[in-house]
Amino acid sequence: MKKRKILVPMPKSRFLKVMCKNCGAENVVFDRASFPARCKVCGIQLVKPTSGKAEIINAEIIAELG
Ligand SMILES: [Zn+2]
Repeated sequence: MKKRKILVPMPKSRFLKVMCKNCGAENVVFDRASFPARCKVCGIQLVKPTSGKAEIINAEIIAELG
C-alpha cells in the first residue's frame, strides 16, 4: 500500500471584506485579529478578538479575500 502524500495544511487565517452595519462602509479585516478592528469611517468596533477566530460584530461579511 502506497503512502499518501501529506498535504501541508493551509493557513486558516484570511482577510475578510466586511460592510459596516452602522454606516455601510467597506472595511478589510483580518479574521484572526488579536486587536479590535474599527470601521475606518465611523469608528465602530467591527471585530472582537477572541482566543481563536475573531468574531465579526457590527459588520456583515461580503467577501473572503483568501
Ligand atoms: Zn462604519
